[in-house]
Amino acid sequence: MGIRLVVFDLDDTLFREADFARSGFAAVAADLRRRLGLRADLAGWMIRRYRRGMRANMFDALSAHFRLGLSRRELTRLVKLYRNHLPAIRPCRGVPALLAALRRRGLKIALLSDGYMPGQRNKFQTLGLERYFDKVVFTEELGRRAWKPSPAGFELLQRHFGLAGPACVYVGDNPAKDFIAPNRLGWRTIRWRRPASLHYDQPAAGQADPAARPSRTVRTAPELLRVMCKIK
Ligand SMILES: [Mg+2]
Repeated sequence: MGIRLVVFDLDDTLFREADFARSGFAAVAADLRRRLGLRADLAGWMIRRYRRGMRANMFDALSAHFRLGLSRRELTRLVKLYRNHLPAIRPCRGVPALLAALRRRGLKIALLSDGYMPGQRNKFQTLGLERYFDKVVFTEELGRRAWKPSPAGFELLQRHFGLAGPACVYVGDNPAKDFIAPNRLGWRTIRWRRPASLHYDQPAAGQADPAARPSRTVRTAPELLRVMCKIK
């Protein structure tokens, strides 16, 4: 195997983002029910809206639809509650076996994830995969400007492991931002494209812009392992 380091994205790569959304909406709905004494199915309404692809300004829309009259301050509190709740998520199918297989082959494994803290750490801890990872980088801890497509997190990993270029591979799901920096650094890039993931229907960004295009696209964990084993 020509690669020595495999770096994974977190959301919709190691777990399904829709599962996080579902448990976040349940946490917000439970909070509102308790505080406002509501009986309406708030969580169900949010999940249906989410599934229709309407994900922006969810709690504003909820407040308007159910005439809750939530203040700006209250809405901000709900966003925080959603981001930082302890989520009911588990690794995607095949992920633990894949990580174990990569370790058996002597590869280093790392995480590189954008997103707000401590929410991202909550997600990663809940998955129970820490024992497989040699290094974990939450770009938020390097400053907001280190979020992808910034190369900051990738460069940090190169320095940490003393590896560079084609010895490294980044596995992610979002062609809009995941592959730009590692492509520029000469890494291999693999898009894990699962049905029902948030960016599944988003081939355009990756195809329109060669700089953002992943070297490979896979659907399943066994396929991902096969592809990595073939890389010279
Ligand atoms: Mg992602």
